[in-house]
Amino acid sequence: MKTLSGLNLKEIEEITDNLGASKFRARQIHNWIYLKSVNSIDEMTDLSVKFREELKQTTQVTDVKIKIKQESSDGTLKYLLEFPDGECVETVLMRFDNRANLTACVSSQVGCAVNCSFCATGKRGFIRNLTYKEIIEQVLTIQRDTGLKVTNVVFMGQGEPLLNLDNVLKAMEIFNENFQIGARRLTVSTSGIIPGIERLAELDMQSTLALSLHAPNHEIRSKLMQIENKYPMPDLHKALKKYIEKTGRRITIEYLLIKDLNDTIESAKQLVNYLKDIKCNINLIPYNPTEKNDYQKPSGNSIMRFKSLLEQSGKKVTVRLERGADIDAACGQLRGKV
Ligand code: SAH
Ligand code: SF4
Repeated sequence: MKTLSGLNLKEIEEITDNLGASKFRARQIHNWIYLKSVNSIDEMTDLSVKFREELKQTTQVTDVKIKIKQESSDGTLKYLLEFPDGECVETVLMRFDNRANLTACVSSQVGCAVNCSFCATGKRGFIRNLTYKEIIEQVLTIQRDTGLKVTNVVFMGQGEPLLNLDNVLKAMEIFNENFQIGARRLTVSTSGIIPGIERLAELDMQSTLALSLHAPNHEIRSKLMQIENKYPMPDLHKALKKYIEKTGRRITIEYLLIKDLNDTIESAKQLVNYLKDIKCNINLIPYNPTEKNDYQKPSGNSIMRFKSLLEQSGKKVTVRLERGADIDAACGQLRGKV
């Protein structure tokens, strides 16, 4: 059985050619898959019944199964999806009531090798990369299930996207061309893989790069993230500067706030200094508790104090709204386990 999801127009044309149908049929199928997100070939109602029957002999819409679906009280949906080899990943859909934006948070790997101390995904270790098809299937599955059109995609689910960059880039191209999601509505979040950042700079990426910095200095960062020993902050700084110069884009700095660890006045000052010549917005993420470590959520007061210290440096600072914590769909809580 061939799976239609993930095929581009040319690949669908090969199928329709084989069935002796016109190229126009391929265009119709393509629309049903990417824009109308049907669940079955039978729903492709502008194809004749006879042609649909022929198509069904050799092809199916998808081979991804929704294993579990949970809905949070704030409307966030979390899916556990299963691929044919039995591996699972989580995908989250966030709706922000005041906007028409529907943001899908997709995974790029099963597990993650970076193993940051605060993250539930890393605890599983690295299992395998997702193919670009498996990445876009996450968005297609959401669209098929909800009947809604995803408008933004963030690579902030499980995995380190810059360690699976070929598939991530290919998926981004398809989001752009087939889903008609603009480059500016795509965000790639990285723990700071310098060769990957350099490659994105060379490619002149116009999507948003988000860096999980999480610390104001080497000492704290290496406690939180082992990757700091491989790609330390001074080198990261150089890579970011080059990236911004080359692409002309403003980056996003993600900063996980952990009580008494990196939420102090001193930390804020050091962070301001580190970012003083980096064109960026800052997104503060209050730590979401996961099992097996003793980090704590910062108090509301310390979040506000930290925020205003950064704002005094002239940067735009936002505090990430916690989405879906009651169903473990918030940042760092994705495990991909049944
Ligand atoms: N691997 C990439 C993208 C996935 S993680 C990266 O690390 O950037 C998406 C974001 O969630 C990252 O900023 C990550 O640091 C953050 N995160 C991980 N664990 C968290 C936790 N327990 N609470 C809040 N945010 C967390
Ligand atoms: Fe991997 Fe990102 Fe989790 Fe670190 S925070 S373990 S890089 S998914």
